[in-house]
Amino acid sequence: MDERIVLNKSYMISKAVAQLLNQRKEKFLIPAEIVANVQENNSLEHAFLVLSKVKYAKIPVLDQDQHFKGLLSLAMITETMLGLTGIDPTRLGRIQVKDVMQTDVPTICPPYEMEEILHLLVDQTFLAVVDEEGVFTGILTRREVMKAVNYLAHDLEKEYTVEKK
Ligand code: AMP
Repeated sequence: MDERIVLNKSYMISKAVAQLLNQRKEKFLIPAEIVANVQENNSLEHAFLVLSKVKYAKIPVLDQDQHFKGLLSLAMITETMLGLTGIDPTRLGRIQVKDVMQTDVPTICPPYEMEEILHLLVDQTFLAVVDEEGVFTGILTRREVMKAVNYLAHDLEKEYTVEKK
């Protein structure tokens, strides 16, 4: 069989690129067990402490059955603290995460296409991965995908012959 693949611009993404990225796809996922999260019914006071402690800009929001519901950032919380007369931290105890979280976020459900991931990661630093029931299974970060792209940049020509058309 001819192993040679001529990269063809008419592919949505090149077959060779998709193949090499797909080989590392499993490594992209950071499993739910090690992803910091807050519950939708938590108070913003609690969420503020969690976000300050973990030092991530944005984290997933889940319900009590581990379904993915949205994302919460420190900026969303600090905006809530701003009242007409200045900063009022007492508001955080009275408002729940679900009242301020971002809900218009894309999620991905396996089996996902690398092409879809690459498109979505242009605008998001990470993507929430859910199963068919919407249960949160982990995140896929731009950082992990960039590592794979780096590998690809170094190794493409070890596995393929790339010819200029
Ligand atoms: P990184 O690729 O590590 O810079 O992560 C990008 C973004 O993904 C972070 O800013 C967080 O919003 C999110 N993230 C990464 N790892 C975790 C984690 N273990 N728990 C919660 N959020 C995370």
